[in-house]
Amino acid sequence: MDISSITAITTALKGALDITKGIASLHNHAELSALSIELNSKLIEAQQAIFAVNDERQRLIDKVRELEDQIAQSSEWESEKTRYQLMSPWPGQPVSVYHLKKSHANGDEPHWLCPNCFQQKSKSVLNTNQKKGERVHFVCSVCNASINTGWNGIGAPQYAEDIGENEG
Ligand SMILES: [Zn+2]
Repeated sequence: MDISSITAITTALKGALDITKGIASLHNHAELSALSIELNSKLIEAQQAIFAVNDERQRLIDKVRELEDQIAQSSEWESEKTRYQLMSPWPGQPVSVYHLKKSHANGDEPHWLCPNCFQQKSKSVLNTNQKKGERVHFVCSVCNASINTGWNGIGAPQYAEDIGENEG
C-alpha cells in the first residue's frame, strides 16, 4: 500500500477540520465564502487520495490473485512432472524424450512427451512422422520440434519401466 496516499488523505481531512474550527470566528459572508472554497478544495484532495488508495488496493488484489493462480499451477505441475521420466526409448541412443511411468500411469496408455515443451511446464504428446527417404522423426505440434530418431521404423511407446534403462 502506498503510504503517501494515506498521508495525503489524513493531511487533507485534518486541513478540512481546521477550516471548520475557524467558522465560529467568522465575521462576514465574504470570509465564509472564502472558507467554503478552501474547505471544498481540501475535501477534493482527500477524495482524490482515496481514489488513489482504492486503485492501489485493486492492483494489489489482482496481483495476489495472479500469484495464487501461479502457485496453484506450479504445484499442480510439480506433481504432474513426477509421472514422467526423461530417457531414450532405445537404450544407448542419444534421443531422449519423456516417458510415462507405469507406476504413475493412472490408467493412461504409454506415450512420449516433447522435452522442449516439458521444460516450459507443458505436456505435449509427440507424434511420429517419416518423410520419404528420411528416418522416423518425433514431431511436436506445439513447439514444432522435429527429433530424428535415427530409425527407419519404431515401435509403439512404452512405459518408462518397460524400457529397462535409467538415465533420469
Ligand atoms: Zn514441443
